Formats: sequence, C-alpha cells, structure tokens
Amino acid sequence: MQVAIISDIHGNRHAFEAVLADVGRTSATAIWCLGDVVGYGADPNDCCRLARANTALCLAGNHDLAVTGDLDLGEFSTGAALAARWTQEVIADDHRDWLKSLSPSGEAEGVGLYHASPRDPVWEYVLSALLAELCLDAQAERVCLVGHSHVALAFERPEGEPATGAARRDGDAADLSAGEWIVNPGSVGQPRDGDPRAAWLLLDTTAWTAQWRRTEYDIAGAAASIRAARLPDSLAERLEYGQ
Ligand code: ZN
Repeated sequence: MQVAIISDIHGNRHAFEAVLADVGRTSATAIWCLGDVVGYGADPNDCCRLARANTALCLAGNHDLAVTGDLDLGEFSTGAALAARWTQEVIADDHRDWLKSLSPSGEAEGVGLYHASPRDPVWEYVLSALLAELCLDAQAERVCLVGHSHVALAFERPEGEPATGAARRDGDAADLSAGEWIVNPGSVGQPRDGDPRAAWLLLDTTAWTAQWRRTEYDIAGAAASIRAARLPDSLAERLEYGQ
C-alpha cells in the first residue's frame, strides 16, 4: 500500500492545498496525518475541513489538544499559547469536536503512529540517536512514524547495532525492509529544517520504502494571512526561512 504521510499542518492552508495536489500526482491511495492540524497558522477551519475530507487517519498533536482545552496553555511558549487562544476563538464547533475525537497515537498496516514519540506521544522531541534508542526500545512496531519536531529525518537501528540518524532532504529514500525505524516526514505548514518548502513522505508498506518530498507553495500568501489575523509577526516571518 502506498500512503502519503503528512504532519504538523498548523493552520497553513496554502501549504496543505499544495501538498494535497502534489500527493494527487502520486500513486498514494491514502493519506495519514500525524497531528497538529491547527496552531500557529491563520486558517484552522480550512485545514480541519481539508484534513477531514482527505485523510484516512489523523492523530491529535499537542497544539490540537491545546485548542480543545485538553492541554494547559501554560505548557506552551508565548507565541504558541497566543495562537492557540486565537484558534479557540475562531474554530467552528464541529471542527473542535472532531479534534477532540482524535488520539495522539495509533497503528495502521503494522506501522506505529505517534504525534511526538513512542514513549510520549504528545510532547517528546526525537532529535538525537540517544533518545531514538530509548524510543526504539519502547515501540511495539518495527517501523514507527512521528511528527512534532518539524524536521524531516530518520533513525535506524539495524539488528545488533546502535541507532544512527540523519536529516533527510527532498528526494531522499530509505529501505525500511530490515531493522527498526523511527521516521519523521517533516512539517507541511511550518518546516524547521532550513528548507521552507512543505514537507511530506511517501511510504510503501508492501515494499517497505520511504521517500521524502518537498512541495513549493505560496509562502507569502500564508504569511500575509497570519499578519491579517494579527497573529505574532514572528510566525509569519519564520515560514520564509523554514525555521
Ligand atoms: Zn507541530
């Protein structure tokens, strides 16, 4: 089965629409979302509508859980808390109810799915080989997908060897058919790995291959929407740099 993996859309309709169009040009038959549909960006309702219409499966991220009131805003940075409060004010009731129905972890086609990490599906950032080791020890499935860090990457632990990992660029591919893996598609709506293009991943659960993809989108349009909504200017600015 060919699946498009997306994560961390963060209310960025411009990026989400471009990625959906790009996915449509592949042979992917389903889209799985690893959470954070809302938060930071100016179009939370559009992003919920598109996620509900286009994903076969969607997890809840920490920003989604902030908007539903399941997480305390005191745990978030000032900018993130401000954006979450703004999102709470503008989000439609049925989209909030939908977000409330989602879970931060799941499983499909033998793949473990977590918004953040197998040890802590809501908050933990898997960005080092040491942490990846601990997560690989904790995960039930051989291959797991995580989002949350907004960095496209993979950690691999071949049988009897320590885990290693690296950031992944547009067009990079991995053979997941052996060993244990933690794979992050990167972020659709707010990339933080220096490449401002929207990030996603093409996963083949039959051949066990992964391919990282990047999609150009209207960054100026997304930034203008953030400024028009009077959200913090830094949230608009960072989109240009992919940070
Ligand atoms: Zn996120």
